[in-house]
Amino acid sequence: MAYTVTLIPGDGIGAEVSEAMRRVVDATGVQIEWDVQQAGADVIAQYGTPLPDQVVESIRRNRVGIKGPITTPVGTGFRSVNVTLRQRLDLYANLRPAKSIKGVASAFENVDLVVVRENTQGMYVGIEHEVIAGEAAEAIRIITRRASERIVRFAFEYARTNGRKLVTAVHKGNILKITDGLFLRTAQEVAAHYPDIAFNDRIVDNCAMQLVQRPHEFDVVVTTNLFGDILSDLASGLVGGVGVAPGANIGDGIAVFEPVHGSAPKYAGQNKVNPTATIRSGAMMLRYLGETEAADRVESAVTQVIGAGRQVTYDLKATRDDPNAVGTREMADAIIAAL
Ligand code: NAD
Repeated sequence: MAYTVTLIPGDGIGAEVSEAMRRVVDATGVQIEWDVQQAGADVIAQYGTPLPDQVVESIRRNRVGIKGPITTPVGTGFRSVNVTLRQRLDLYANLRPAKSIKGVASAFENVDLVVVRENTQGMYVGIEHEVIAGEAAEAIRIITRRASERIVRFAFEYARTNGRKLVTAVHKGNILKITDGLFLRTAQEVAAHYPDIAFNDRIVDNCAMQLVQRPHEFDVVVTTNLFGDILSDLASGLVGGVGVAPGANIGDGIAVFEPVHGSAPKYAGQNKVNPTATIRSGAMMLRYLGETEAADRVESAVTQVIGAGRQVTYDLKATRDDPNAVGTREMADAIIAAL
């Protein structure tokens, strides 16, 4: 069976890691027609927007997409293309697994947890303005029962389907009593419908500390948008960093896969960065498509190459300036050879 998948290469290091992913996925033999769509700062001159309608329409049509990272200007400029895409397509669940890979130097072994981040509201609704010019500003954080319920339900369903035993709801309900109070109450109500899965909750600051000290106590972490963004980067740091951390944005019958990391502009065009996060996002996509065997093969090829430790990028070497580190393309070649 042939699939049509929207591919947004992204900018910065996006083109390089996306190309590596595309070559690996093609090498599995799964027939994919790539509907390549460009988004980001580079298309503004041509389309008047960093997210042209045809990009969104392509994903709506194909129901599955995969993207490289896209740069968002800090403090000024256009709204994040990534956030806008998630909101416009109602990709409400951001799934970010953090699993130890043998051969990656890190403080812990056998970490295996998943962050499920609410992806459409919270601090990311984009309602922010100055109250007194240059002196005071405010941002509005929106939490609804509907979004809280569906993200917690997603986390429990994910736990059930994937043999996971515990869901932890992470919040700041002691300070954000009304918004995170609503999130936590809703989580507790949803949890009552899943007696087969254990449930607990943590205040976000304590959760951050416990994740660093005792990551094995976590299984599925479900939380609001900003906390999920931060904790998923933290979780990736437990298993080798953002260079190896894949992700998925999932809605009802629609999904866009992407690495956890950003566009690392300082490394753009250097054939330097680790393609693993995007390649593993490709494996998640294959699994979503039902191509389980191909997904398993990609995962084990990645594990094999990283475990051997030779044909890996600089971030997986003991020192960052190891002259034996290979480039993005060469690491992808090694993964293809191991398939
Ligand atoms: P970043 O993830 O780009 O970089 C953080 C650190 O990780 C840097 O040291 C970088 O060199 C390193 N890194 C990133 N990807 C790597 C890889 N594949 N291999 C090895 N090392 C890697 O985050 P940032 O610097 O905070 O953000 C840069 C830009 O990316 C910003 O414009 C930000 O808005 C954007 N961003 C986009 C997304 C997305 O597209 N979903 C996500 C996060 C950040």
